[in-house]
Amino acid sequence: MEQAKSSDKLSIVDAHIADQQDLLLFHTKQYVEFVQRSSIEGGGFLDYGDTPSYKGVYEAALYTVGNSLNGLRMISNGKVDHFFNPIGGLHHARKDRAGGFCVFNDCAIAISKVLNDFDLKRIAYVDIDAHHGDGIYYGFEEDPRVFIGDIHEDGRFLYPGSGSSDETGKGKAIGTKLNVPIDPGSGDEAFIRAFDNVLKFIESSNPEYIFLQCGADGLEGDPITHLRYSAMAHTYATKKLHQLAHKVCNGRIVAMGGGGYNPRNVRDAWMAVVKELCSF
Ligand SMILES: [Zn+2]
Ligand SMILES: [Zn+2]
Repeated sequence: MEQAKSSDKLSIVDAHIADQQDLLLFHTKQYVEFVQRSSIEGGGFLDYGDTPSYKGVYEAALYTVGNSLNGLRMISNGKVDHFFNPIGGLHHARKDRAGGFCVFNDCAIAISKVLNDFDLKRIAYVDIDAHHGDGIYYGFEEDPRVFIGDIHEDGRFLYPGSGSSDETGKGKAIGTKLNVPIDPGSGDEAFIRAFDNVLKFIESSNPEYIFLQCGADGLEGDPITHLRYSAMAHTYATKKLHQLAHKVCNGRIVAMGGGGYNPRNVRDAWMAVVKELCSF
């Protein structure tokens, strides 16, 4: 059943599962098989102590990926203009390992899928999660087709420690990534300053597809970060990217949840994202 509930502006769809082939668009076979084995045994960690394993972790992680891929499909089929996957945005998973509570990197798999299937040349990925999206950055560091704008708490104070402003891509891709670390304690004003720079950068790449990782862990009161945005940050970022998507790429924008460890903040930030995506 495709649609559980809908209004004229919003459809809520059932969760979709990915398959192993989808994972291999980004991850190594060895890593995928490692997660499968770990999922049968259960217990322990998939990395050095951040990302827990449990019985069924493989299948659960397939849903985070399946939803983001379903978003691409629904947009291609013209069923929706935009898509939000609240359980996606797992931006720390690397090609060959888990990291920061992320088993499979649905954002990286979705980007790879779009690059493969539609032969696009310019994909924009904007990441406003409090943590640097290291899985995406290092996954596409040498790929000039992927333009990254990533605002995060300075890595000297927060996991994963990467994402300094001199990390701008490698080889042919130098200049296609913009990392904007911001100081602990920063609020909406600092966010908007940083976001306006990211927007200018992303706009100038003239993207054919836009991804937004909209982690809610930069809002004031999150227990594991030190930023102090309000949900206004999410309203602002989504509004600007939504407008840009309609202007340059037929409205193609997929948003993915990401982190968020204060439930009230998660509600406020992601409601703001959905509201903006439904705004016209
Ligand atoms: Zn985060
Ligand atoms: Zn729209």
